[in-house]
Amino acid sequence: MNEIKAPKGTRDIFAPEIQKWHNLENAIHAYYKKFLYQEIRTPIFEHSELFSRGIGSETEIVQKEMYTFSDKSDRSLTLRPENTASVVRAVIENNLFETLSPLRFYYIGSMFRYDKPQKGRYRQFQQFGVEVFADDSPQVDAEVMFSAVDFLKKIGIEAMQLELNSVGCPQCRPDYLQVLRKAARAQESRLCSDCRRKIDGNPLRIFDCKLPACAEVAASLPLISDHLCGECRDHFAAVRETLSWMNVSFQLNPRLVRGLDYYTKTAFEITSGQLGAQNALLGGGRYNNLIQELGGPDMAAIGFAAGMERIILHLEQLEPARPKTLFVAYEDPQWLAHAVQMAQVLREEGYPVYLDYQGKNLKKQFKKADRVAAAFTLILAENEIQSGSVSIKNMVNQEQIKISLKELNEWLKKNY
Ligand SMILES: [Zn+2]
Ligand SMILES: [Zn+2]
Repeated sequence: MNEIKAPKGTRDIFAPEIQKWHNLENAIHAYYKKFLYQEIRTPIFEHSELFSRGIGSETEIVQKEMYTFSDKSDRSLTLRPENTASVVRAVIENNLFETLSPLRFYYIGSMFRYDKPQKGRYRQFQQFGVEVFADDSPQVDAEVMFSAVDFLKKIGIEAMQLELNSVGCPQCRPDYLQVLRKAARAQESRLCSDCRRKIDGNPLRIFDCKLPACAEVAASLPLISDHLCGECRDHFAAVRETLSWMNVSFQLNPRLVRGLDYYTKTAFEITSGQLGAQNALLGGGRYNNLIQELGGPDMAAIGFAAGMERIILHLEQLEPARPKTLFVAYEDPQWLAHAVQMAQVLREEGYPVYLDYQGKNLKKQFKKADRVAAAFTLILAENEIQSGSVSIKNMVNQEQIKISLKELNEWLKKNY
């Protein structure tokens, strides 16, 4: 029979790497609660229409990268390629606007895109992200960016850069798009066929094209920063000022337009120089019209999503210390009941404990203790059991002592 492998672009995560995931997830839960964010968990599949309406039918994601399928009742469903549209859908559907305050959410979960797999990029990948609703203050934009930079620093990522832009709003963007279309059309022959198609659809997407010829054209195209309306200009200036209060350094990138259509005003990305082409760790921005477009009230929103695989790649050197394992060994199967009960008591005290139910003799159990990297082996033998004591072998220096069971707790507190 042929061996069945995991599908292309997916991967298994197990020890020791899984420990980094636990650390990262725990850090996210702890950090974002400080800003009164609440976790939200949404389904991993949604009606396909949510994403075509929410992300934009002209985007790469919707056109090429979605895992869309029909279920047995012929509904068109899609594995979520990102989570913002789902969070917005959930908030509208559950009326959270009326019941929760503040409207601040964070999430951790799997997303799915049919993309070319490479280091740090998978077809099933993990993102964490935040969304803040009902607040159009530029200070919130700055706070969201501060939290992203500060969080990454706190988990040990130093070399990163915050890139910042404003992508305008429905008042100023249409005029800019006309200017942009005109300029792009003048150089149409130098653009790839994809980009030529974007001129009429969404010319902002030309800035996303990775082909050198298109990038060259893009470098000469007019910039949104020169076409912002007064409100967008003021908002953007206040965002930058607040970032300076917070001591967050950033670089303006007037060509940063982000891959999704729903952004308004602030757009940002955090990149790292360490990962080559896959250097974007996190991206986000304001999306003040999405809630209304998806059937909700007219309400401002801002958020970001971070690629957890790429963050984990940066944590490669930070091997977390394993909790010390206690191994309970028994000289003879007749003492197995004692060993089982001792293991229970120790786990109750909070220690990781292992015992080998198949242990034929002490020698084999010591071998097993080494294989599970036990720090100490507690040995139950006739002598010990008669005298109400236990022998403890230090698995690193092989020293062995015997203490009374009454002293065990005290001894572990001192020596564990
Ligand atoms: Zn504007
Ligand atoms: Zn192109």
